[in-house]
Amino acid sequence: MIIERAEVVVTSPSRNFVTLRLVTDDGIVGLGDATLNGRELAVVAYLRDHVVPLLRGRDAHRIEDTWQFLYRGGYWRRGPVTMAAIAAVDMALWDIKARAAGMPLYQLLGGASREGLLAYGHASGSDLSELFDSVRAHLEQGFRAIRVQTGVPGLNAIYGIASQAAAAGGGEERYDHEPARRGALPMQEDWDTRAYLRHLPGVFEAVRNEFGPELPLLHDGHHRMTPLQAAKLGKELEPYDLFWLEDCTPAENQEALRLVRRHTTTPLAIGEVFNTVWDFKDLIREQLIDYVRGAVTHMGGITPLKKTMEYAALYQIRSGFHGPTDISPVGMAAQMHLGLAIHNFGIQEYMKHSARTDEVFRQSFRWRDGLLHPGDEPGLGVELDLDEAGRYPYEQAYLPFNRLADGTVHDW
Ligand SMILES: [Mg+2]
Repeated sequence: MIIERAEVVVTSPSRNFVTLRLVTDDGIVGLGDATLNGRELAVVAYLRDHVVPLLRGRDAHRIEDTWQFLYRGGYWRRGPVTMAAIAAVDMALWDIKARAAGMPLYQLLGGASREGLLAYGHASGSDLSELFDSVRAHLEQGFRAIRVQTGVPGLNAIYGIASQAAAAGGGEERYDHEPARRGALPMQEDWDTRAYLRHLPGVFEAVRNEFGPELPLLHDGHHRMTPLQAAKLGKELEPYDLFWLEDCTPAENQEALRLVRRHTTTPLAIGEVFNTVWDFKDLIREQLIDYVRGAVTHMGGITPLKKTMEYAALYQIRSGFHGPTDISPVGMAAQMHLGLAIHNFGIQEYMKHSARTDEVFRQSFRWRDGLLHPGDEPGLGVELDLDEAGRYPYEQAYLPFNRLADGTVHDW
């Protein structure tokens, strides 16, 4: 089974997606997600100019060998651009192998370890009443676990608040069409960590009082705190029994988590910006995290993320794969198959793609009773409609960024 054609498809139904499409000599099509949010065309160039010429004529069955060839053979290792490109090849080859076997991919990864994947949704509000409405709306949609993000008094626009972004964009009430304001320069948001730390524990107290002790609640710190601030927040949130506190400090300084860990029993999740198992190695070995936030798309594919999770399993560390809408339906499907198969699955982040995105990428996954399932079509279970994809050309779009009150750039 030889790779005969490889093409990179860029489409923008609501937001930009980069997809690698491999076709074998016996006509099997495999898809891989290579979307790097806000820097999409860098991966397109990496694939088109440097990877595609290496793929034609290769044996499509040799997934591990192809991965090692692209990773080690490129000499310049790691980094989000390189690893998103390798991830797309890896996903597409697993898709092809499972289609050739006539099985859904999770069967080739060891078979299902559970009936479905517990998924969490994103509730948010600029104040408590908006936040409660948003939590209720997510519960009505079937979510059994909720990420809680809230506005902070005195700050105009901050990460993860749907209504603010919708009001700014004049669009529907969701914020996943980021990078917001296509074609414009990056949008500026505000930040004040002390104001946030004063406000957040009261919000979680109110949410617990309103929705009871059982609902799993999550929160994303989005890399903004110092180690001491994160330790303080983790401690103050302990009475509200969080499922996890995510990205409490910038991931570059991994030693910071030792300090956080010494001060709080709030579970920690990290790693959505990581690219390889090497980024997780010390955090797993030292048991500084509880959940692996990697994404198939940004970690180099299914092959290395499965290895990462097998290593994490030795320490009872579970998965919490990154799943906002910039992970394309192809990437999400790959994560669902992997999550269904591994023993140490924890939870899956899940934001619904727009209706337009679902027309370009036809999917077979199921969402039922708060659980995701990748479906039982052969392969990943996603078909890319090239005609539909062609209707939505790429539009340049940036992620927002943060400034403090005095004008200093801060982590977004
Ligand atoms: Mg996050």
